[in-house]
Amino acid sequence: MSDFPHVLPTYNRAPISFERGEGSWAITQDGTRYLDLGAGIAVNVLGHANPALVEALTAQAGRIWHVSNLYQIPEQQRLADLLVGHSFADTVFFTNSGTEAAELAIKMARKYHDHAGHPERIEILTFEGAFHGRSTGAIAAAGSEKMVKGFGPLMPGFRQLPWGDIAALSDAISGETCAVMLEPIQGEGGIRPLPDEDLREIRRLCDETGALLILDEVQCGMGRTGRLFAHEYAGITPDIMMVAKGIGGGFPLGAVLATQNAASGMTAGTHGSTYGGNPLACAVSAKVMEIVADETFLAEVNRKSALLNQKLEALVAAHPDLFESVRGHGLMLGLKCRISPADLVTAGYAQQLLTVAAADNTLRLLPPLNISDEEIDEAVARLEKAAQSLDA
Ligand SMILES: *Cc1c(COP(=O)(O)O)cnc(C)c1O
Repeated sequence: MSDFPHVLPTYNRAPISFERGEGSWAITQDGTRYLDLGAGIAVNVLGHANPALVEALTAQAGRIWHVSNLYQIPEQQRLADLLVGHSFADTVFFTNSGTEAAELAIKMARKYHDHAGHPERIEILTFEGAFHGRSTGAIAAAGSEKMVKGFGPLMPGFRQLPWGDIAALSDAISGETCAVMLEPIQGEGGIRPLPDEDLREIRRLCDETGALLILDEVQCGMGRTGRLFAHEYAGITPDIMMVAKGIGGGFPLGAVLATQNAASGMTAGTHGSTYGGNPLACAVSAKVMEIVADETFLAEVNRKSALLNQKLEALVAAHPDLFESVRGHGLMLGLKCRISPADLVTAGYAQQLLTVAAADNTLRLLPPLNISDEEIDEAVARLEKAAQSLDA
């Protein structure tokens, strides 16, 4: 055997591995407990080994794991009913990941115009700093040098505009535009929220030109911001939305939600997936939806957000050499740093604290949405110690 890594080395992995988890804690083989403020990058919305999710998964595992989308799948139907009932959408397609959801969103938008007699409307306007996944289509959409270099030729039909530049969007959008695609809060881009009035203006520009609005809520959706979906704050609705990460609570699942109008080109045979909407994934996700879409649960997310925010503001004030500001909504918070956020992530490991770095010099805090007040106190205490270790 060669000594080349048997797992393709596309990640710079930390030398830590976890054997099990309990709520907001990830535990190594030797019993060391790490407080998890990354939640698998906004995935474990109800923490690790949540009893209600374990029950939903194991009950389904004893019945049937996989059938094909050639048949009716009641678990999938039920989850689609829940998502439609709690959103703008009329219809849902299930995928296995956010990337696949992005692929379908792009296809659906182009198909919509083709179906309406305008096959020339293919251009999708996106924003710099965006992240929509790692497929050839998704990297072309985001367009950053790091993601696209060496992977060309890229899929044509995307144009990146400066993040949040509404004037540039207003100039670029026309009756030829297919769609505008963006994250209401950029995640990988550094927890950068778009102001509500800008999202409303983008909606207006789309309406005016007939372009579709595609929102990528893969990271900011599923209760992460204290609303089920982040766009609800702006009081607008998209035509198409991608969801993934938190939707399965840790079980791989993604979805594209759409209005009947936006989905009008997607007739039988135009798209498919072997695993998408698999009974195991949908049984778990329906339980996630039941818990997370509840108004009392979301009110708690907002209350905890205020608590964490306040403590983070104090941390920033105490370490002006390390931190610049706190940003984000709900439990999708970022600490804009004056040092490399990777150094803070590493200093966090030494305090048994898991955080995630992002672009724009930002440290991401994405705890399970059911993190307790005591765990928030503990997390900030550990972050304070990590900060002190770098101050010295
Ligand atoms: C993670 C992410 C994706 C890609 O999802 P995968 O499940 O990794 O394919 C797409 N968009 C956003 C905003 C994300 O955060």
